Amino acid sequence: MTDIISSHRGRRGKIIATLGPASRDSDTIAMLYEAGADVFRLNFSHGSHADHAASVAAIRALEKEFKRPITILMDLQGPKLRVGQFADGKVVLQQGATFRLDLDSALGDGKRVSLPHPEIFAALTAGAALLVDDGHLRFKVLRCDKDFAEVEVVIGGVISDRKGVNVPDVTLPIPAMTDKDKADLKFGLSEGVDWVALSFVQRPEDVAEVRAASGGKVGIVSKLEKPSALDQLEAIVEISDAVMVARGDLGVEMPMEQVPVLQKRIVRSCRRHGKPVVVATQMLDSMIKSPVPTRAEASDVATAVYDGADAVMLSAETASGMFPVRAVAAMHRIIKQVESDEHYLTLMAAGRGEIEHSSPAAITAAARQIAHTLGAAAIVTFTSSGSTTLRAAQERPDVPILCITPSLGAGRRLGLVWGVHAVVGDFIHSVDDIGDVAVKAAKQAGIGQDGQALVITAGMPFGKVGSTNMVRVVWIGGETGAA
Ligand code: PEP
Repeated sequence: MTDIISSHRGRRGKIIATLGPASRDSDTIAMLYEAGADVFRLNFSHGSHADHAASVAAIRALEKEFKRPITILMDLQGPKLRVGQFADGKVVLQQGATFRLDLDSALGDGKRVSLPHPEIFAALTAGAALLVDDGHLRFKVLRCDKDFAEVEVVIGGVISDRKGVNVPDVTLPIPAMTDKDKADLKFGLSEGVDWVALSFVQRPEDVAEVRAASGGKVGIVSKLEKPSALDQLEAIVEISDAVMVARGDLGVEMPMEQVPVLQKRIVRSCRRHGKPVVVATQMLDSMIKSPVPTRAEASDVATAVYDGADAVMLSAETASGMFPVRAVAAMHRIIKQVESDEHYLTLMAAGRGEIEHSSPAAITAAARQIAHTLGAAAIVTFTSSGSTTLRAAQERPDVPILCITPSLGAGRRLGLVWGVHAVVGDFIHSVDDIGDVAVKAAKQAGIGQDGQALVITAGMPFGKVGSTNMVRVVWIGGETGAA
């Protein structure tokens, strides 16, 4: 990938599109990309390895066609707990009835069903809540032991084969990854995915476990959907490479009215720690069946953008909905509209974290200020690991961030990050080249005009991670100069 041909999308917030039966053919993937999808999410709760391998191949072919790095996020299913099966496929449980969950593999009936997860029984206590089928049914534990729980049906309804179970009040003594997750991760790494999202993170150690298993080859996105994770929010944000507000399961594990408050708390924490944050689930839900979103949904996307989320995510809208491309196009338009609001950049500035006492942080903050003072066209970051660029994005500058990197992996990972337009190539052979390369890259990305400044940051010597130690101003179509 040595040419730079395609232009900047003209927005800072990024769009993640989940692939599925409605969108995983190569033509639709191309249309999603052209409509504005920056990151493709492969959801390993669904689809076979062959399906996901075909999606990866289509995305990588698109990269070659557009000569742009494109980001792939694999999402591990995580420890999803499920009841066993019923003799009649389902039963109706009345409110107030008593029901039993146990380790007996016999088919269930109106009195009991198997819950083949001994670790749940080991962790349960009387009074704990159990939620079934995304919270449609609710049980309260009356009595329990190591192989059963007797529960009262608090909210009744139909319970059928293999319905999911959430245990919000309890930190479960289960590993971060199931055997399926481990096999999926190995497969994803062999396919060269850029990010891995970990479902049902409970504690910082879960993230450490996945980092060890992935050998540091991918960025790790912690999906926050359990109350126990929120109890350790700061530590989890700190150890993660990025965070997702997984509002689907979060709204099952917690009362739905807490979701907006938690969303803001999580986004604020990520902004403080300088970690990319994704707001996910039901953003344009009505577009699963409708060609236009509701006004409330447009407002929901806008709120996440105003809060400073790095990316907003589409799930069923693009995976199985009727209008996947329109959903991405709608999101693109909403983000652009918010970003054109004169108050938007003021809000971004207000959410900025404290400047760390380090030379890279001080230089990056200075670059933002210089760009603002000069009305620059962009901040240009030269990076090999991506860290200089990530730091620039943390500053939420009022100009685009043009990242120039020899590392395809870094360029791809930065696709998730606010404000970054990455170009990949081995352009720099001497520090004297950076001005010319920055101007050429800006022109080819459609950024800036003659007479506008570019504010360059880089680490010297090139290739040393975290060594941002230089800022320089160059003028498009003019003389270069040091600052
Ligand atoms: C969620 O629960 O909001 C989420 C993003 O996870 P999944 O789509 O895997 O359920």
